[in-house]
Amino acid sequence: MQIEIHQASPEQRKPIPADESKLGFGKIVTDHFFNMKYHADRGWYDALIEPYRPIQLDPTAMCLHYGQEIFEGLKAYRGKNGEIYLFRPTANIERMNSSAERMCMPAVDPDLFMDAVKKLVLLDRNWIPKGRGTSLYIRPTMIATEPALGVHPANEYLFFIVIGPVGAYYSEGFSPTKIYVTEDYVRSVRGSIGYCKAAANYAASLYASRLAMEQGYTQVLWLDAIERKNVEEVGTSNIFFLIGDELITPPLSGSILPGVTRNSVIQIAKNWGIRVSERPLSMDEILAASSAGTLREVFASGTAAIVSPVGQIYYREKLHVINEGKIGEITEKLYNEILQIQYGEKEDPFGWRVRIG
Ligand SMILES: *Cc1c(COP(=O)(O)O)cnc(C)c1O
Repeated sequence: MQIEIHQASPEQRKPIPADESKLGFGKIVTDHFFNMKYHADRGWYDALIEPYRPIQLDPTAMCLHYGQEIFEGLKAYRGKNGEIYLFRPTANIERMNSSAERMCMPAVDPDLFMDAVKKLVLLDRNWIPKGRGTSLYIRPTMIATEPALGVHPANEYLFFIVIGPVGAYYSEGFSPTKIYVTEDYVRSVRGSIGYCKAAANYAASLYASRLAMEQGYTQVLWLDAIERKNVEEVGTSNIFFLIGDELITPPLSGSILPGVTRNSVIQIAKNWGIRVSERPLSMDEILAASSAGTLREVFASGTAAIVSPVGQIYYREKLHVINEGKIGEITEKLYNEILQIQYGEKEDPFGWRVRIG
């Protein structure tokens, strides 16, 4: 399918933010967005890049009632000489289609998906910030639009991609986070939709996150829903523990989001000769390691921050400090390695970087 492009007129264009230190996250969108429609009788149609605008929905649009909404998050990075890179976009495209399948939503042709991302980013390329650590965030989204109140997988959908410049996550340096282990609430459970990037998972997580934040914590550490024993994720990121010389992250058992960054960390660490285990890890084992002095580093992983060091863990009325609350050596090394691959500053032995401009 061809993508039609309608360019914004000079009057429709917004000023590109000049101060890259004030970009923040998710507050600014560019001049254009991509969208296309789906009907069960005709498949995807009307692929279009057009001036950014609100979308219109019928009040009975099914996404508003039964929650068929999935999304993705990836970034475009500007290299030293103005090159434009994406990082493992195919992984995001595959994950979106895996989320779609579970949510009874239609798949998007991967080539068309990639073409839409490329064309949109290149059209608004002047919006990609230049500072180290800044990037252009890309948010592909799919919603059920069929106007109907009966419960069934919708027959009509809208797929759209919005993009916007985002600031450096660590503009004020790394500050290790304080996390709160909740035993009262869970994010997902094996057999549910925890492995999908679905809005519903976020809705389910907000309450416990708010409670943790009210008590001065950055995020919640989620435990498995059945035994409330093994760690799963932290906030909306994956989690890693360095105990002794073993780097441990929970296995993809269905309730955990298969992060692209998680997978990149695993591959890089293995390549460095670190013993990496994807295995269940209980709070008991973590506490024992903490007492024994072998709990060396804890960090979260995700596209937004790459890796985010955890300095303190609160569990059952006790605060456990990791690495004296400082960023760990491996955490920092992983951060630099991935960042340098993303910005084209380093060789890319895994073939993850995709140059589009
Ligand atoms: C997006 C997301 C992650 C991180 O995935 P990346 O592909 O590394 O950005 C982890 N956990 C949850 C719940 C997420 O939604």
